[in-house]
Amino acid sequence: MNARETRGYLLTFRCVNCGKHELFAKYAPEDIVTEAQIRGRIYQVTCTSCGWQGQACGMSAVHVSHIVKLEAKVAGQGN
Ligand SMILES: [Zn+2]
Repeated sequence: MNARETRGYLLTFRCVNCGKHELFAKYAPEDIVTEAQIRGRIYQVTCTSCGWQGQACGMSAVHVSHIVKLEAKVAGQGN
């Protein structure tokens, strides 16, 4: 079994190009961090709707969710 645990935070931003909340950044710290620390960082983000890429500050995130999941090794994801 090639499953591995994925922990981290998923930040959702409003896209400055298309206006949708389709801009996501993942942050997987090695240590436990506070939400204030998460929001104080700059993230490289990509819009899943229009493809816009850029940087966004955690302060402008509309939503921060905590990820804890087991991610199996999957081939051919998407399509
Ligand atoms: Zn967009």
